[in-house]
This record gives sequence, structure tokens and C-alpha cells, in this order.
Amino acid sequence: MDTISVAAARRAEAVGRTVRLCGWVRTRRDSKGGFSFIELNDGSCQGNVQVVAAGELPNYEDVVKKLKVGASVAIEGEVKASPAKGQATEIHAAKVDLLGDADAESYPLQKKGHTYEFLRTIAHLRPRTNTFGGIARLRHQVSMSVHQFFDERGFFYIHTPIITASDCEGGGELFRVTTIDPDKPPKTDGKTDYAHDFFGKPAYLTVSGQLQVEAFACSMGKVYTFGPTFRAENSNTPRHLAEFWMIEPEVAFADLTDNMNLAEAFLKRIVGDALAKCDEDLKFFAERVDKGLFDRLHAITGQPFLRVSYTEAVDILTKSGKTWEFPVSWGSDLQSEHERFLTEQHFKQPVILYDYPRTLKPFYMRVNDDGKTVRAMDVLVPGVGEIIGGSQREERLDVLETRMKEQGLHPEGYSWYADLRRYGTVPHAGFGLGLERTLLFLTGMANIRDVIPFPRTPGNAEY
Ligand code: ATP
Ligand code: MN
Repeated sequence: MDTISVAAARRAEAVGRTVRLCGWVRTRRDSKGGFSFIELNDGSCQGNVQVVAAGELPNYEDVVKKLKVGASVAIEGEVKASPAKGQATEIHAAKVDLLGDADAESYPLQKKGHTYEFLRTIAHLRPRTNTFGGIARLRHQVSMSVHQFFDERGFFYIHTPIITASDCEGGGELFRVTTIDPDKPPKTDGKTDYAHDFFGKPAYLTVSGQLQVEAFACSMGKVYTFGPTFRAENSNTPRHLAEFWMIEPEVAFADLTDNMNLAEAFLKRIVGDALAKCDEDLKFFAERVDKGLFDRLHAITGQPFLRVSYTEAVDILTKSGKTWEFPVSWGSDLQSEHERFLTEQHFKQPVILYDYPRTLKPFYMRVNDDGKTVRAMDVLVPGVGEIIGGSQREERLDVLETRMKEQGLHPEGYSWYADLRRYGTVPHAGFGLGLERTLLFLTGMANIRDVIPFPRTPGNAEY
């Protein structure tokens, strides 16, 4: 007898098979006719399969009629066509084994309708809910689409380091990695001496794999990295995590237009695959979380993304007549309120902003001929705001070094990165897509803490 998943058991093709199913009881209902219905879920899909357990089962009174919500069971039986609406099949149980009981008094998911805030406090049990099971399956699908998309296009998957001694953004948002005893740090001239630390110098958790993946783009052409990144930004927003996953393609012999085209094709593929393969989960989110979900998703696949320069965007914002919490003028960083106004209210569709002021962007972005702007791009989508940030990279050694100094960085610390320009430099470009922002977009969920299995945010690293 084959053990099959609930997803497989719910398909009409399974009718007639005798199978074994394992999962957790979502509900049990006892019929007056002396038998019971068990709704069984194993996480393989959004829906449950209905198990019909007859009163003739030897353990009917002792076990079946006492099955509680959350208990784990193994069921053997025949898959039959279901007479009920909304389900193709049901299981007629020949055997019901209780594997693990669940105390009805204390099981936190006994009742439905918990808030997301409460569910965050039981992050180890929330994957058993429809919402969090759906998010986990979508997260898996997006990850698979990422690898398939790049593999089909001849990209190589590069594993960039998690621990690094270079700070990609030059910002102060780094988590330090050290084995120094905080109570007894080695000191030289009264200062902690990292020469005595594990790596012989200060080291950090990576904020991005970009710099390292550039070395592989500048030798293998088309590459990407996909891994966890860490930012100690103390921004308690619904769009920031201290640990999140980022997908970063990097392409040699490519300019900003190529980069925009790649980003657009990539997002279209991710959304297209989710629409094709996660219909049941997306319908759940469209019904329960975000009524406009399918319209938003079809707006990605159905039309080209708009491309608008930063300068034009600032013009639109200043002429909008809106009062902003953060006032805008040319040279100011666009805040979430501005980005969302542009994509949600003004353009009402995905938009790629490009050519940002040089003062706003990191040293590695290519300086335009105007000297004032760099070849940066951000992809903005309704419901989320910025989902992708990227740029054409500065391939001219002298300009790169000027930019490093301009931003207070020591070129010596980046000599290996400068070597990529020193020996056989090429135009190249890349971007970073936040996996969790993508999931916010795909589900309509409002808080990024709810689209990663175990969120890490300021003051919170449970589990
Ligand atoms: P933001 O302006 O929203 O803080 P950023 O400009 O710092 O983002 P980038 O450095 O360009 O972000 O990173 C690329 C992508 O990674 C972003 O477009 C976003 O999708 C994602 N991202 C950045 N920071 C975070 C974070 N703290 N938590 C989750 N995702 C993030
Ligand atoms: Mn960005």
C-alpha cells in the first residue's frame, strides 16, 4: 500500500486506490448515523481531505470518536469519488491509528481566527494554519522559480560568503561576528584590538552577496547568488527584517537597460509560475487577505513595466499637491510614502525608477555622463513599494576609486574588488530582489514578519 499525500488523495485520479495517509486532524464531526467525518491536512496543499470513519472500526468508540483537533493520525483506506460539493474525493477508512494526541484544553490552534500577532508568538505551530501553510508553499515555489529561471538562461548559482570583512553598502547596519570575550576584550592603546579576533580583523554578517558575486560575473558572465542577508537597521517597519533572503543576479557585458529587462522578465516569471502552480493558495489569499490580489498579479504579467527617471519622479511628486511626511526635492531619498504614491496612485502599475542622484547611492554604481546621477534602478510595485534595487556597476577604475574616497571608504580595503576593473574590466550590472518583499506582494500580507518562517527583528529572535 502506498503512502500518499493529501494533495494526491484529493485528485480525481486517485479514486479506486487503497492508500495510507498521514497528517493532522483539522476537525472531526460525528454523524447521527454512527460514523464520523475527519478533515485531514498534511501541509501538502491548502485543502483537507475528508475521511469517513465507520462505526464498525474496532477502535471507533475508543479512538475515532475521541480524536481531537491537532492530533496526528495515520489512515488506511480506499479513495472514493465524493458525493459532496467542492471535493472530488473522500477516503473510506479501513484503519485509523492515533499517532500523537493533542490536548484540547491547551492546543493553541483549537479555534480559528487568531490574529497574526498572536500567531507570531507560536511561530512553531503557525505552519499548521491555512495562512502560514500557504505562505510556506508559495515561498518554496518562488525559490524553485528563481533557480529554474536562471538555469534556463545559462546563469550559474554562486554561493557567496555569509561572513565578510567588506561592508557592501558602506553603511553602519552590520552585525559583528566575533569570538572576543565581551568581558575581557584584548586591548591596544585602550581600544579593542581585532588583530586578536578570530579573523584577525573585524568581520560581519553579509548585507549582500553582490561584491563577491561580481568576481564570478567577471569570469563566468551570468551568475546569481541566493542566500540570507543581515541588516542591523533598527527600523521597526512592516517591510524590514534583520535577517532576510535575497536573490542577486549579476551579468557581465550588460548595461542598465539589460538589467531592467532581466528584472522585468524575472518578476513576470515568478508571478506567472505562482499563478500557474499555486492557484489554490492564491485564491485563499485573495478571499481572506487581499481582494485585489489577482488584479495586482495580472498587472505584473500582463503589461510592460513603466520606466521613469528619478528626475521625472521627483517632478511628479512635487507637482502632486500632496503633503508628505518627508518633503521631496531633487536630491532627496525617496521614502516609502513616495514610492507607494507613484506605483499605487499615480501610475497604478509596476514602475522602474532609474538614474538616481549620485549622492544617494553606493560607490559601485556607474556614474552617468552628467556627473550628477548614477545608473541605479529600483523596481516599485503596488502594495509593497521597492521590491528590487540594482544598478549598472562602475567599471572604470579611476571613477570607482574617486567614488570610494567621496564616500569615506578606504580603497585598500577593496583592492580585490578594484582588481576586477584593473584586469579585463567589463560593463556589468545586477540587482537584488528581496524574497520576503516578493511574498508580501504575492499574498497581500501586510507584515514581513509573517512571510518568513522565524522572523528576526529588533528585540526579537525567538526559536
Ligand atoms: P529599503 O530602501 O526598502 O530599506 P534598500 O534600498 O536598503 O531597501 P537594497 O539594499 O537595494 O534595499 O536591497 C535590495 C532588496 O532587498 C530591496 O529592494 C528589498 O526587496 C530587499 N530588502 C532590503 N532591505 C531589507 C530588509 N531589511 N528586510 C527585507 N527585505 C529587504
Ligand atoms: Mn534599494
